[in-house]
Amino acid sequence: MFDIQEIRSQFSILDQKVNGKPLVYLDNAATSQKPNSVLEVWNKYYTEINANVHRGIHTLSQLATEEMELSRRKIQKFINAKHDFEIIFTKGTTEGLNLISYILTQKLKKDDEIIISYLEHHSNIVPWQLLCERTGAKLRVIPIDENGILQLDKLDELLSEKTKVVSVNQVSNALGIVNPIEEIIAKTRKNTNAYIVIDGAQSAPHFTIDVQKLDCDFFVFSGHKMYAPMGTGILYGKQEVLEDLPPFHGGGEMIATCSFDGTTYAGLPFKFEAGTPNVGGNIALGAAVDFIQKVGQENIQNHENALLEYAQRQLLEVEGLKIYGEKAHRTGVVSFNLEGVGISSDVGMILDKMGIAVRTGHHCTQPIMNFFNIAGTVRASFAVYNTFNEIDSLVEGVKKAQRMLS
Ligand code: PMP
Repeated sequence: MFDIQEIRSQFSILDQKVNGKPLVYLDNAATSQKPNSVLEVWNKYYTEINANVHRGIHTLSQLATEEMELSRRKIQKFINAKHDFEIIFTKGTTEGLNLISYILTQKLKKDDEIIISYLEHHSNIVPWQLLCERTGAKLRVIPIDENGILQLDKLDELLSEKTKVVSVNQVSNALGIVNPIEEIIAKTRKNTNAYIVIDGAQSAPHFTIDVQKLDCDFFVFSGHKMYAPMGTGILYGKQEVLEDLPPFHGGGEMIATCSFDGTTYAGLPFKFEAGTPNVGGNIALGAAVDFIQKVGQENIQNHENALLEYAQRQLLEVEGLKIYGEKAHRTGVVSFNLEGVGISSDVGMILDKMGIAVRTGHHCTQPIMNFFNIAGTVRASFAVYNTFNEIDSLVEGVKKAQRMLS
């Protein structure tokens, strides 16, 4: 049974007033709140276990190692990876994408091509531009139509023997559009030997992920958007792909032997986990997976889809309100502007005075904003603890902003 009040009671932070009004937290695409169970696990690590992992013979170190490796196995199951050593702890999606683009440097040469899409977050654009600068490769972009939908027939034209990487997100953070990654992967596999990278920052919190079924080479996501602490994230890579690539950071943990004459590297996953990891955060990420599974991924999806549909319906009744990507298949996010109100942040400030937290601006997706010829949007994004009443408050707030600003 999906009991929203019971779920909300697990998030103490929600039970507060902001600017004198009950908090309505609709900025989940930026970061989600953390349930008490996750905070307790994190707190327990620092109050009862705190020790460095993998190197220690003493009890606390072994306990920390066991807990972190247990968390790795929970995440393995969560995305259905074949092996636990294909799960690399990172500090987030940005680090994962930078790591991948760096370790692919030797695999690319001048005039090779990297394909991304118009809907990418800057963190799935800039690392590839840097890789192009290092190698002389060229960036190619799958275009979108006026509804923000990827034009897949154009992907057919872009794919060639020059294509060495295809990197796309599963869900756009700016518009909430769900991209047909299964089709993109199938087309890429059929026509090229390119590495396939999926940015799952906005899908992992909402969808069931199966990396084996997807058949991608890499899948990256952030813990903090899926109920885990900040500074946590995951890079999944296929065993044979990771084994074939060089390390990213050098340092402790990632070596097998080290001398002044040279170094040999540790096996997976440690080859890609140099230095002391975020042990408490990584353990708490496992607790966030437990939370998601306890609520049930299907329940989460159904609830969030119902919220999105309701929000879209209510918002479209506001005269002069335009939703971007309205006609696309979307999840978790509604992104809009009010006619005659030039600056989305003005709307955001009025909503904030009413205790409503939304994000405004370009959402780290300037190419999308340029495509629609706007500076930014107002973005409301949902999580499992949001309610229909909160959407009513949002709509009321948007109407008030319109009265005040137009
Ligand atoms: N990709 C997408 C689609 C995102 O939404 C985000 C976060 N807004 C990122 C990448 C970057 O994630 P992080 O800041 O957690 O590294």
